[in-house]
Amino acid sequence: MINEKPMQLAKRMSYLGIGRVRIGAVLVNGKNVFSGFNKSNKTHPLCSTNSYRRLHAEISCCVGRDRSTLEGGTMYVYREDREGRIAISKPCPNCQEYLRVVGIKRCYYTDPRIIGNVGMINL
Ligand SMILES: [Zn+2]
Repeated sequence: MINEKPMQLAKRMSYLGIGRVRIGAVLVNGKNVFSGFNKSNKTHPLCSTNSYRRLHAEISCCVGRDRSTLEGGTMYVYREDREGRIAISKPCPNCQEYLRVVGIKRCYYTDPRIIGNVGMINL
């Protein structure tokens, strides 16, 4: 089970997403807590150079924030399918690179293949 509050918030954010997949992201950095979700109807310059046409939740979470509020932060990404089952939300290579560049250090993501349903990557 995922008990951490940021992951619960990411879950709630995922319901705001547009499109077939529900993905929510939350960034925690000290007293700063930011959230985002998948926005398939929007495009972003960062996403237009590849096949990912939608603004991914991870990036949606960071866009427009002051760099100093992102650096050193921890991201939580939640995903579920249409039936409400937890799905793999490991950030795509593009998002991983983006998170690394803006200084995010760690990312927890849902993964039903892992005991506890949460995986982690150090960026
Ligand atoms: Zn992505």
